[in-house]
Amino acid sequence: MDVHVQKYGGTSLADDKRLREVATRVIERKEQGKSMLVVVSAMNHTTEDLIARARRIHSHPSPRELDMLLSTGEQMSVSLLAMAVESLGYEVISLTGGMSGIHTDNRHKQARIIRIDAARILRELEQGRIVLVAGFQGITPDGDITTLGRGGSDTTAVALAAAVGAAWCEVYTDVDGVYTGDPNIIPEAQLLRAVTYDEMLELSRLGAGVLSTRSVELAKEHGVKLHVRSAFSAQPGTKVMEVEAMEEVLVRGVTMDANIARISVAGVPDRPGIAFGLFKQLASEGVSVDMIIQNLNRAQVNDISFTVSKDDAGSAVQACWTFLESIGGHGMVLQKDDVAKVSIVGTGITNSTGVASTLFGTLYEAGINIEMISTSEIKISVIIDAGQADEALRKLHGAFSLDSVELS
Ligand code: ADP
Ligand code: ASP
Ligand code: MG
Repeated sequence: MDVHVQKYGGTSLADDKRLREVATRVIERKEQGKSMLVVVSAMNHTTEDLIARARRIHSHPSPRELDMLLSTGEQMSVSLLAMAVESLGYEVISLTGGMSGIHTDNRHKQARIIRIDAARILRELEQGRIVLVAGFQGITPDGDITTLGRGGSDTTAVALAAAVGAAWCEVYTDVDGVYTGDPNIIPEAQLLRAVTYDEMLELSRLGAGVLSTRSVELAKEHGVKLHVRSAFSAQPGTKVMEVEAMEEVLVRGVTMDANIARISVAGVPDRPGIAFGLFKQLASEGVSVDMIIQNLNRAQVNDISFTVSKDDAGSAVQACWTFLESIGGHGMVLQKDDVAKVSIVGTGITNSTGVASTLFGTLYEAGINIEMISTSEIKISVIIDAGQADEALRKLHGAFSLDSVELS
C-alpha cells in the first residue's frame, strides 16, 4: 500500500476555517489515489493553556495526571478534523495514540515509543478510510496515556511513517520550511531547500523547534525523508534527508535556546573527586546537565558552573546543596535564569579555523559577553545574557553570510 503521511501543527488547525482547509488538502491527496495517514497536534496554544491551568490547580501535578490532561488537546483536534472530513463526504476515522498501537515506556511527559503495532491503522486504510491520529501520545503496558515531550506530534508522524513503510513524511507548519534561523526572530533568514539529518538534528537539539529532536533521530534511523512546508502556501519547503553531493557550507544556521538556567557551585575545594561527587548527585536526582565549566580562580578553591533546562533548575540547585552538605558545607550555589544558549551549526565548522574567531569577534563588536563556550564537530554554542540573544542571532546570521545563502 502506498501510504502518504502528513502532520499538521497547531496553527494549521487554529480555527474552523483552517480545519476545513486542512480537510480539503487531505482530500485532494486522497483523490490522487493515496492512502492518507494524517497526524495532528493540539490547536494553537492549547497545550500551553492546559499546562497553565494544571499549574493553577497544583504547583507540581503528577506527570501521569498531566499526561491525561495534555493528551486531550490532540484528541480535540483529531476528532474535529475527522468531522470536517466527514462533512465533505469522505470516509474517515480518528484514533488516539493508544488506538493507533503506539506503545511507549512509562516515563510520563517524556515517554519513548517502544513499539508500534500498525495493524489497526493498516486495516482502516485498506478499507479506504482516511486515518487521522492524535499526535504526541501513546500508551504504557499498563494502559496509561503518556505524552512524548513538547513537539511530540512530529515524533508520532515520523514513527508512524516508519511503521507503515512510507518513504516520506510531510510536516505542515506555520512557516515555509526550515530557515537559516528562526524567521520570527531573524527577518533576513533564508529558507533552506535541503538539510542533512545531522544538521537538522543539531539545529533541533539547539533550539530550532520547527521539528522535534526525536522525530529527526527517528527519521535518520529509519531513512524516512522529511518535507517541512507551510500549511498556508504552496512554497516548496525544506527536505530533510541524506544529501549526497550537497555543497559543503561553512555554517548552515543559527539557533537559540532560552529554556536554560546556569547553576554555579562556588568555592568548592580543589581536589580529586569533587566534580565526580557533584555530578553523581545531580544524576541521582535525574538532572541532565549540558555545558560544564570549571574555573581555577583561587588557591585550592574552584567554581564549577553548568547549564540545565529551566524545568530542572530547582532539582539541580537542591542536588548541589545536598552535595555541599556532604563535603562539610563549604561553598555556595547560585542560579541564573536570564541566560540563553546561542549556537551556529554546519558541517563545515569541523574543518575551518576561522569560524570560532568570527563568532567571538562578532559578539565582541556587539558588546556581548560570553559566559560559557562549547564546541563539537558540527556546532559552536555560547551562553550569553538572554536579553542579548536575539541581537546575537541577527549579528551572527549576518557575519556568516546567511542573509544571502545560496539555496541548495
Ligand atoms: P507546529 O505547531 O507546526 O508544530 P512549531 O511552533 O512547533 O509549529 O514550529 C514552528 C516554529 O518553529 C516557527 O514558527 C518558528 O518560530 C520556529 N523556528 C525556530 N527555528 C526555526 C528555523 N530554523 N526554521 C524555521 N522555523 C523555526
Ligand atoms: N501539542 C504538543 C506540544 O505543544 C505536541 C506538538 O504540538 O507537537 O508540544
Ligand atoms: Mg511543533
